[in-house]
Amino acid sequence: MRLENKVALITGGGSGIGKESALLFAGEGASVVVVDLNPEAGQAVVSSIKAAGGQAVFAKADVSKSADCQNMVQVAEDTFGKLNVIFNNAGISHAKDDDAVSTEEDVWDLTFAINVKGVFFGCKYAIPAMLRAGGGSIINTASFVAVLGAATPQLAYTSSKGAVLSMTRELAAIHARQGIRVNALCPGPLRTELLMKYLNTEEKRQRRLVHIPMGRFGEAEEMAKAALWLASDDSSFTTGATFLADGGITSAYTTPL
Ligand code: NAD
Repeated sequence: MRLENKVALITGGGSGIGKESALLFAGEGASVVVVDLNPEAGQAVVSSIKAAGGQAVFAKADVSKSADCQNMVQVAEDTFGKLNVIFNNAGISHAKDDDAVSTEEDVWDLTFAINVKGVFFGCKYAIPAMLRAGGGSIINTASFVAVLGAATPQLAYTSSKGAVLSMTRELAAIHARQGIRVNALCPGPLRTELLMKYLNTEEKRQRRLVHIPMGRFGEAEEMAKAALWLASDDSSFTTGATFLADGGITSAYTTPL
């Protein structure tokens, strides 16, 4: 049990990476606060965890709202007495996100409100709770596109994930001597709803797969396992990392032929 006696809060816990992480973390002994904008999806994950004998509670939050993030951390401390791990994972990829010329200001603002400000608010309220708990692990979901850029224009999304990476590095340096580790998980292209709604034909999927050395999309379960390592004491000397779990796509692009 790699998260025994730990309390973990996961945003975007109702679907994809967040859902699989909630199930895995609970299976590894954590008490899990499942946070999502969508109560049905989040409650369903809590029910699955409880049915398997684990401990979990749902907290509804829009991570772009300061008061919601303050409340979700409060739920963790009120329900389970402390907070050891926060996985700032909720994020969106807007259908109208495009290049600089075509992307509208409201698309940019919404993407940054959720993907960047949401991570900031998560950290803002989790860090004091972690200090009360004697330390902790923060995992922020960025993306391989923060390292590479994306071939299909999605400027707001790529820029937002770049901000998550730099925020992660600075927070890691600030809090390293307080026992709080901060790392960025950078998934490659995954076979989740978020990406597959855009890669909705075999031709589009094959075009993307050409660039992934492993020749397949990643699974949300594989990201959950990476997040588990970052959450647990197994990664005790790792902080400020750009932790790529991307099927080799970044190496393929950054290694000269
Ligand atoms: P998903 O769409 O399956 O799940 C995201 C969850 O976040 C949903 O349950 C949704 O309700 C919730 N959510 C959305 N906005 C929210 C808000 N404002 N407040 C609270 N919850 C909110 O997505 P996923 O594929 O599991 O992606 C999770 C993270 O991984 C995101 O940050 C995404 O950018 C990142 N990521 C995904 C991929 C991919 O290929 N799927 C690749 C790299 C990075």
